[in-house]
Amino acid sequence: MKRRLLIAGNWKMNLTLPDAETLARDVALATPESIDVALFPPFPWLTPVKDALAGSAVKIGAQNCHWEPSGAFTGEVSASMLAGICDFILAGHSERRHVFGESDDVVARKVAAIVKAGLRPILCVGETLDERRAGGAAAVVTRQLASGFGDLSAADVSVVAIAYEPVWAIGTGVAATTRDAQDMCATVRRWLADRFGDIGAGAKVLYGGSMTGDNARELLSQPDVDGGLVGGASLKADSFSAIVAAGESVAAM
Ligand code: PEP
Repeated sequence: MKRRLLIAGNWKMNLTLPDAETLARDVALATPESIDVALFPPFPWLTPVKDALAGSAVKIGAQNCHWEPSGAFTGEVSASMLAGICDFILAGHSERRHVFGESDDVVARKVAAIVKAGLRPILCVGETLDERRAGGAAAVVTRQLASGFGDLSAADVSVVAIAYEPVWAIGTGVAATTRDAQDMCATVRRWLADRFGDIGAGAKVLYGGSMTGDNARELLSQPDVDGGLVGGASLKADSFSAIVAAGESVAAM
């Protein structure tokens, strides 16, 4: 049986506050009961977007956090500060790793801090084009998983989701083929099962990278793809709703 799908919209550093509130209300109206939907607005829009979603089942997440609970870290926000607002926090998104230089070690500290704060991390992993061309995609992803999970226990892992996001597919308009997405999500699941048994095997594994209303149904119907992390297509109600509708049709299969 298919695991319950999660469609997550990562708004990155986009949208004015009025546009964010309008989009949140539109997403709330179009969200079916059969799948989970979550939105990841920029930090200052978290509370107003949460308010705009009030009464709906749409969940809310932050795009980043610091690993310490508090301290002299100018400009940073801790996972524990986000605990009253969010359900999820992204960790290790490709833009954090490649634009802001976050190491595997930093990502692991963030995952641990998110779990400790009682929130759900979405650990993002994925290879660059050069790594894929060199035949190293699975090795890179398993290294990122081994590091990202650090010494978390199986009980901790029950709240973690993983997003397989090949770096070359993010924001490029070139999604992974259905077969590559399935193979890599299956690789992630095998690693989780080997390390954490049934709890690991049951974790949510999302695909991200140029998902659209046109390719979502095929990607989401793969046995090891439990949802999507969506960037560009999450910024407009019609393109995001098309992906949510694709998820709904897969859930009904
Ligand atoms: C992302 O930023 O996580 C992402 C998948 O972006 P896009 O959908 O635009 O490729």
